[in-house]
Amino acid sequence: MTDTTSATTANQTTTRDGSLAAGLPYPTAEDAQPRDYGMLVGGQWVAAAAGETIDVITPLDRFRVLARTPRGRAEDADRAVRAAREAFPGWAALPFTQRQRALLRIADDLEPLVEDLARLTAVDTGNAIRTQARPEAQLLVTAFRFFAGLAGEVKGVSLPTGDEALSYTRRLPLGVVAGILPWNSPLMIAAFKLPAALVSGNTVVLKAAEDAPLTILELAEVCQRHLPDGVLNVVTGYGREVGEALVVHEGVDKVSFTGSTATGSGVASRAGERLAHVSLELGGKSPCIVFPDSDTDAVVEQVLLATRFARQGQSCTSGSRLFLHEDIHDSFLERLVARVSQLRVGDPRDEGSDIGCIINERQWQRVQGYIEDGLAQEGVQVAYDGRPALTVGEPGFYHAPMILTQVSNDWRIAREEIFGPVLSVIRWREEEEVVAMANDSHYGLAAFVFSRDVGAALRTAHRVESGWVQVNQGGGQQVGQSYGGMKASGQGREFSLEGMLEGFTQIQQVNVRLV
Ligand code: NAD
Repeated sequence: MTDTTSATTANQTTTRDGSLAAGLPYPTAEDAQPRDYGMLVGGQWVAAAAGETIDVITPLDRFRVLARTPRGRAEDADRAVRAAREAFPGWAALPFTQRQRALLRIADDLEPLVEDLARLTAVDTGNAIRTQARPEAQLLVTAFRFFAGLAGEVKGVSLPTGDEALSYTRRLPLGVVAGILPWNSPLMIAAFKLPAALVSGNTVVLKAAEDAPLTILELAEVCQRHLPDGVLNVVTGYGREVGEALVVHEGVDKVSFTGSTATGSGVASRAGERLAHVSLELGGKSPCIVFPDSDTDAVVEQVLLATRFARQGQSCTSGSRLFLHEDIHDSFLERLVARVSQLRVGDPRDEGSDIGCIINERQWQRVQGYIEDGLAQEGVQVAYDGRPALTVGEPGFYHAPMILTQVSNDWRIAREEIFGPVLSVIRWREEEEVVAMANDSHYGLAAFVFSRDVGAALRTAHRVESGWVQVNQGGGQQVGQSYGGMKASGQGREFSLEGMLEGFTQIQQVNVRLV
């Protein structure tokens, strides 16, 4: 089956040259031939059982195939899960210091590769190297070190039940974790899942996104140097084929999914049928609320970060609904537009680019559809449209930011996740009203509140139904703080000690009679 609407296309290959292993040198957009990758299963780099592959097209040139990855299906998922099951008892039984050491060695090997991984991220995802790709690769190293440090926290407690009893608990890994990843920032999302799952004693099967699998395969190559065979496995292919096969596999104890709310809902119901553990990091339509005392250039900078324009708006935590108090609406918007018009959309490998390219044509067209829908609404105004000035469109999926104002909170562009560089600006007057509008969404992932009045800022922050609220800042994720969504934005938390314990371990209680 060929998915013609995606940036990837499927092929049948019968012959191969050379090794399927990941490793330096990484593919570039200038390579004469696409690189052939295998999947990592039980310590081996293998082709799909059926021999099929998927072309990985770089978002910066729609005609350039960067690599071919295996088109895994149920049989491949089964092989990977079996390898992970086999490796599980030995990995789980290790003293925690040995898992800790493995993670630290992985971090040490990743660190000198940050630049290479950042460049690969740029050509694989279209994320600009300076603003996105490099910080994502650096975060990965930080995450491995952070979770290595938590290895000894996977421990139980004892209860003082008297001299004649010993009552204690043990914290145990869940078993085999399937980590399903999206394409928008693969290394960052892998950093949320992989080190926490491994250090707590689980074995893992990662499913890389079909549109941007390469950095995950390269990450696996580094991990494999320090892990026993089968502790980490990576499969590639389409979600409804190899992804779904993992979700329904009896050998998978936990599905840790990051992706869209629609797909996540199906994943949860199928995993739920067999009572597997599930955690979900899903979509968002996050409010960004600016109070009248915050009409400054410094706040504009933070709001700009919150828009995630620098990742083409392809961020689940994008503050894509900007609520401006009516007293400062025009003035703040003027500052914001002046700043946004300075952003440079361009080759994601170029240090001068602020914004890279959208992942594929389907997503690019989807963004156009939302823009057309927004422009068709009565009363909408275009505050900024960078598209006419943009000359770098072909052959990549480049897209300049768009700011629409006088938007109503019930329009589609204010309710649905666009996942593109489109900002909907909505006026407000009363605090009650803006909190009600912010919460009038089925999503609840992130929120941003800007006010110098600490009382107003925190009152609002606490009333917004979002898993992550930032006050007077718009930046990125902090390692060590629990990340995750409320409402339809997800279930469970990641990237913290609590997230690791709740998401990747279970408690066994033991009661011993001592007389
Ligand atoms: P997606 O849901 O289409 O795909 C995500 C992953 O799931 C991919 O690897 C895909 O192959 C796989 N998949 C698809 N169908 C599947 C199925 N039936 N069974 C198992 N796996 C399946 O999402 P996407 O388009 O890759 O990513 C964009 C979405 O991800 C956005 O909605 C965004 O908000 C969300 N996202 C959320 C977070 C978060 O932390 N909350 C982070 C990044 C992205």
